[in-house]
Amino acid sequence: MYGKIIRSLAGFYDVYAGGALYRCRARGVFRALGVKPLVGDDVEITVTDTVSDPMEGSVDKLLPRKNKLLRPNACNLDQAMLVFAVTAPAPSINMLDRFLISVKETELPIILTFTKTDLASGEDLDRLRSIYRESGVTLAFATSDDPGSYGEIWEMLKGKTTVFAGPSGVGKSTMINHFCPEAHMETGEISRKIERGKNTTRHVELFWAGEDTYIMDTPGFTSLYLEEITPDTLRDYYPEFEPFEEKCRFHGCMHESEPGCAVRAAAENGAFSPVRYDTYREILRELKERRPAYPKNRQ
Ligand code: ZN
Repeated sequence: MYGKIIRSLAGFYDVYAGGALYRCRARGVFRALGVKPLVGDDVEITVTDTVSDPMEGSVDKLLPRKNKLLRPNACNLDQAMLVFAVTAPAPSINMLDRFLISVKETELPIILTFTKTDLASGEDLDRLRSIYRESGVTLAFATSDDPGSYGEIWEMLKGKTTVFAGPSGVGKSTMINHFCPEAHMETGEISRKIERGKNTTRHVELFWAGEDTYIMDTPGFTSLYLEEITPDTLRDYYPEFEPFEEKCRFHGCMHESEPGCAVRAAAENGAFSPVRYDTYREILRELKERRPAYPKNRQ
């Protein structure tokens, strides 16, 4: 029987297979091969007990992985969904871009979903559309007041495994509960308290949302400190710069205040959003001021 590992706990793997949940042990063969099954793994299992609750089985075989991430520690993810509210709270574009950079590190395709559109004006939506139109992300808009808007989101999720990220208070948990009623995500004030208390444990879990469709929530996924990013790799996270980079006067241009910078000129001419260029410069300045990390291997 084929299924997917949705959770791993204390040596057991919870596998969703054929519409039911099986608590499985991994066969010794994995340890011998030095392979550790991961959340997201597609597996072949043998059912050993259908009377117990949950039912039991053993993981016999891991199918080939499409990809594997370290943060979150999972595999076979198809895409990431970054959730922000249009308003209440209005997004700080600087903070949003940090999330975006952090999620982009996974190299997964990104859907940027703005919630609470019922509270926003058409101008608010147009502004966000224009900021992100060249950023390489797919944009979506939703409100819990309009089931139709969730229908459009569902079309993007269907048949895929999607990791959700975003700050608290933007309606991310409400959305996950809508698609995965079994997730029982706490929403609002309570969740903020819980997330604070939970910061040290990084719990990785998939929720079943429909046939071949899974959602993962990651409260501790994004690191807004961007510790993996250096000043000279930051520009790689801004796809809208790419068509212009070859035209900069200096090879290796940081697109900051160098003369003849074609990227800066393109931002000024509106070839892409100057707001994105501003956040680039803000984050770049901060990365340059950051003290270099102490070399780990030095005694
Ligand atoms: Zn430049």
